[in-house]
This record gives sequence, C-alpha cells and structure tokens, in this order.
Amino acid sequence: MGKLERRSWAEPFKIKVVEPLKMTTREDRLKAMAEAGYNTFLLRSEDVYIDLLTDSGTNAMSDYQWAGMMLGDEAYAGSKNYYHLEENVGKFYGYKYLVPTHQGRGAEHIISKLLIKPGDYVPGNMYFTTTRLHQELAGGTFVDVIIDEAHDSQNLHPFKGNIDLQKLEDLIKKVGEKKISYVTVAATVNMAGGQPISMENLRRIRALTSKHNIKVVFDATRAVENAYFIKMREKGFEQRSIAEILKEMCSYTDGATMSGKKDLLVNIGGFLALNDYDVFEEARNMVVVYEGLHTYGGLAGRDMEAMARGIEEAVQEPHIKARIGQVEYVGDKLQSIGVPIVLPVGGHAVFLDAKRFLPHIPQLQFPAQTLAAELYLDSGIRSMERGIVSAGRSKETGDHYYPKLELVRLTFPRRVYTQAHCDVTAESVEAVFENRDRIKGLKMVYEPKYLRFFQARFERL
Ligand SMILES: *Cc1c(COP(=O)(O)O)cnc(C)c1O
Repeated sequence: MGKLERRSWAEPFKIKVVEPLKMTTREDRLKAMAEAGYNTFLLRSEDVYIDLLTDSGTNAMSDYQWAGMMLGDEAYAGSKNYYHLEENVGKFYGYKYLVPTHQGRGAEHIISKLLIKPGDYVPGNMYFTTTRLHQELAGGTFVDVIIDEAHDSQNLHPFKGNIDLQKLEDLIKKVGEKKISYVTVAATVNMAGGQPISMENLRRIRALTSKHNIKVVFDATRAVENAYFIKMREKGFEQRSIAEILKEMCSYTDGATMSGKKDLLVNIGGFLALNDYDVFEEARNMVVVYEGLHTYGGLAGRDMEAMARGIEEAVQEPHIKARIGQVEYVGDKLQSIGVPIVLPVGGHAVFLDAKRFLPHIPQLQFPAQTLAAELYLDSGIRSMERGIVSAGRSKETGDHYYPKLELVRLTFPRRVYTQAHCDVTAESVEAVFENRDRIKGLKMVYEPKYLRFFQARFERL
C-alpha cells in the first residue's frame, strides 16, 4: 500500500458533472409529506435533499459508460451492444446464454413462468418483493429457508444470508423434489439488510440440490457486493480477486436473474442468464412476448453498452471497497451514537431498527413507515420502509404478513454522494432519535392490491 493511499475507504474517482440540489424548509417538507400520504415513494424527487430511497438505477455512470452510450447500435436485431453484453456476462459471471430484459423483474417474470408449475414450492433465502410476487403469480408457494440468525437484527453472524440446509432438506422430504421448481439464492440478501451468503454455503446448496436434481436460480443483482464480503470474511479468499470470487459463486448455480440497476452501475437494464440450452430457448421465445426481441429485451442498444461496461467497473476492487466503505462509515457513526441499527452493516444500506427506535408504536401503526416520514421532515432525506407495509398480505388468509423486522432503509446510490452528505444523514437520524418519544404512528388510508408499499397512503394518528 502506497503512503498516500488511505487505509480506510475513499472514492476512486473525481467529480466531472454536478447536479444542484434544492434546499427546503421544514414547512415545505411538511406540505410535501402530507401531499405524499406519508409515503416516501410518493414524494417528488425535486423536494428531496439526499435521496436514500434506493440504490436501484440511481447510480452515477462513469465517463467510460457515457462514452459507450454514444456507441449505441440501435438496430432492431443483432445490435453489437448485445454481443458486447453477452461476452461480458460470459466472461465475468460465467453463464453460457443471455436474455436481456428491461430490468430484474423482467427476468424474474420469465424464469418464474417457465419453471414454476401451479402447486410447486420455491424455497429461497428470504423473500424479495418482486421475486416472490412473480413466483406466486406463476402458481408457486415461496418458502423461506434462510438461517434463523437473519431474522435477528443484532446477531453478528458474518453470513446472515446463508440458507439453512436442514430447512431446505426438510422441505424436499416433505413435498418431494418434483414439487420444487428451483431454489432461489440471493446474494446479498436485500430484505435481511444486505447480508451476504458464504461460498461454503453456496457449495453445500449445490451439493444438496444436485443430489435431488433441483435447479438453483441465482439472484445475482448484488453478487459483486457479496463477493467483497466473502473476500473480507471467508477463510481462503483473502488473496482472490473480486472477479474470481464472483465467477466461482455463479458456478454453483444454473442460471441468474439480474437487475443491472444495482451492482452494474447503470440507470436501467437487467438480464436472465442461463446454462441450460433448452431453458434458454424457451426464455428467448418468451422474452419476445413480454420485453422485446431477444437481442434487446426492452433495452436500447446504448443501455446494453452501459451495462456491459458497468460489469467491468463493478468488479474493480477500489470501487467495491469504497462503495461498501461508505455504507459502513454511516453505520459506524450511527452505532457510536446509540441508534439501533441492523448488525452487521450490510452491503448497500444502513437499516434503522424501527421496533427499537420507536418501541411505543405498535406494528399495526407502521413504526418504520412513521420513522421514514419523520426523517424526511427533519432534513429532506428520503429513506424507505422495509417492514409490515413492504411485507404485504398473505394470499390465503388476506391478513398482513407480520415480519419480525420493522426497518427503515438508508440506501446509498453508487458514486453519488460525498462524505459530507453521509455526515448530514447521521446528524439528522440523531436529531430524530433525540425526539423519538414525541413521535406518533400512522394509519393506512389507501392500500393498492400489489406491492402496496409503492403507493399506499397514510395519515398521522
Ligand atoms: C432490485 C432487485 C430486484 C428486482 O430488480 P428490478 O430491476 O427492480 O426489477 C431483484 N432482486 C434483488 C435482490 C434486488 O435488489
């Protein structure tokens, strides 16, 4: 390590273009929040100061990616950017066949429709909203087989994204291997707080599923972030490159759904990647119906080029070190002032533990939704609820799912905010924390049928 290189993290880039932010008053924000029905998804982005709603599609692209946009080959069929993307997916992820989609859920839709028969079961390491919904719409039943530690926001297990192999084996015994469409393995696990899965666990999942002839579909959306944690935490990987680790992870799976809007540093794009030619052939037929021709899948040529280049940048160690370093920086700051957060801090976000932050607000008064609204009122920072509102309702009973974790996610877009923005964020959370006793809950006054967290409206109690 050179003398000038910082030992912690620092941005391995400098800023070439800036986007001015609107500064608002508390009165402006009270008005905006009431108009948005106390749902941060319904705020106008121009009323937001620091936008930590999501890291999905909110990344800053590099000059190399923007230059690639100019090289977009906007042919209806056979765009050269498709071939560049196909080459890089093969080179870095190791899958043989590529079907581009407009974003991750496009790939989830296709694979769910292809492989799930009504009455099937689809085990996975904790649900993800769109993934589970597509599985259910295809007639499947999702079964959570993540280790119990993942549901405990204070457990310091280094790989809280791991699958509990006993739970998986029990399910296979109970329903029979023929009734299991495939196992969904996510890395990192978004809903558990961006927690990684270990290589050891991936190997064991492969061994167990091979024995039963069950496919593994990888949610590779955040696999580069996961690879960094493996390098940092798992024995034997200290000297391996991020690219090597990523490829080994993928090698234990049969295919992947991908949202390029996360790891791959773009604003739109995704893909389905497969090793089995027959499944690929069917997916290629289906993508034409739902997304677009199989060489663009709902994307412009320039978008595929930006994503192809994003793969090359995503696996660079200085990038991923700074990306995760920034999230850890905010997590460490909040922990040092006593704010309850999910531990260990995950790859893309700091999760405030709303149950402990606002213990006086019962789950049916939406503590996490309330906390997200309060944070916006304090400083114009936009975060997101990940609790009972996001969990939705059971399709059998119609009742809410009652998740153990009631969280507010402060999600960091890649390469967008500076360390001073991180400081402002921690200061604002601290200010809300100091006034927490005075905060009252919310009631839901409008509830959409699907993925209700996006559009639900609330009123203050
Ligand atoms: C964002 C995300 C998805 C869905 O991808 P979209 O591009 O939003 O459709 C699936 N899985 C994980 C882990 C994600 O983070």
